Amino acid sequence: MPQAQCPGCGGVLPLTDEQFEQSVECGRCGRVFVPADEPDRPAGPADPDELPPQRTATPAGKQAVAGLVLGVIGLTLCFGCCPFVGLPFGVLGIVFGMLGRRSENRGLAVGGIATGTVAVVIATLGGTVWLLLVAAG
Ligand SMILES: [Zn+2]
Repeated sequence: MPQAQCPGCGGVLPLTDEQFEQSVECGRCGRVFVPADEPDRPAGPADPDELPPQRTATPAGKQAVAGLVLGVIGLTLCFGCCPFVGLPFGVLGIVFGMLGRRSENRGLAVGGIATGTVAVVIATLGGTVWLLLVAAG
């Protein structure tokens, strides 16, 4: 059965087919209106992809920042005493960089992925060399 939502009080009125696209009177508030094809739906959340870039930091934007910070920390630790310590930071830098790639901080996210990748490579190579040196005594 077609329905119409009253623009005056928001009440939903059942309609017969004859009433459709004709003026009807709301039984609750007495307002006369013409039902549209579909009753007005409450505005749902907009598609996130269509939202304009936000000035404030979004969760993804913060992840982008975290990715760069972790990637730089991982890279720094790789040149420290233990390459292994830099490995998890590098991995996290890549992960957070991926998460933040579609944010307003895309540059930072890509930086996090880049530094994280370099950190992982250096940590893996450095760690392997370190292991071989230890094994060689
Ligand atoms: Zn009404």
